[in-house]
Amino acid sequence: MDVTLLGTGSPIPDPHRAGAATLVRAAGVDLLFDCGRGVVMRLAAAGVFPAQLRAVFLTHLHSDHLCDLNDVVTTHWVMSPARTALPVHGPARTDEVVAGMLAMLRPDVEYRRAHHPDLAWDPEVPVVHVEDGSTLDVGGVRVTVGATDHRPVEPTVGYRVEHGGASVVVAGDTVPCPGLDRLCAGADVYVQTVLREDLVRAIPAPRLQDTLDYHSTVEQAAQTARRAGVGTLVLTHFVPGCPPGRAGEWAAIARAHFEGEVVVADDLTTVTVG
Ligand SMILES: [Zn+2]
Ligand SMILES: [Zn+2]
Repeated sequence: MDVTLLGTGSPIPDPHRAGAATLVRAAGVDLLFDCGRGVVMRLAAAGVFPAQLRAVFLTHLHSDHLCDLNDVVTTHWVMSPARTALPVHGPARTDEVVAGMLAMLRPDVEYRRAHHPDLAWDPEVPVVHVEDGSTLDVGGVRVTVGATDHRPVEPTVGYRVEHGGASVVVAGDTVPCPGLDRLCAGADVYVQTVLREDLVRAIPAPRLQDTLDYHSTVEQAAQTARRAGVGTLVLTHFVPGCPPGRAGEWAAIARAHFEGEVVVADDLTTVTVG
């Protein structure tokens, strides 16, 4: 099983980091977790076109985790040689987001269908709402859903992907909570979006200060990793940012609380397990 961090940025625009998105490939099945800024470019860099994706999973409906879902859906549709659905899994209200996105794409769908007679179908994007405890089988790969805590954003979920005895958790934005601990228990890899409290507190912008209460700090991510007994902690979604040359600082903070392997991901960092 391969885990590729497609985008390791946060909502703050960063020339080096695309938005939140993670590719998990297991048993030849490509699963996409979140669809942030630039996801289709980073998928291409990873050698995957959207038409190869089996399913999309959204951790929550914040725009930095889904703003390029429309690009994934359109490219999947236009490049699929035959009628193929792209299921989108996500928490309650994912149906609203997908319906609104399809409404936005309506003129494009009409233009392309009128111009390409062999493109005889509309994008098919069935929505699967998930919640704590949901389990799915996607092409032989098991996906388990756990409730996370990103309040006041509700509901939010994380995903555990299992195949051939290996396990990977894509947690999304969350503070430590029992649902996250259950999801991570004994996992080989735990991917966590993180914030540096010391750096955020030094920036006197009220909207940035507001983010302190609903993200795991690096210390908290490492403590979750230790409590759950995970093998490798992968840090991503760096708030307020991790410029080139600074990854060592982030890793050192995590290593003070967790004895396993710590990866400070860049875009296209890949971790292989199993
Ligand atoms: Zn969020
Ligand atoms: Zn986010």
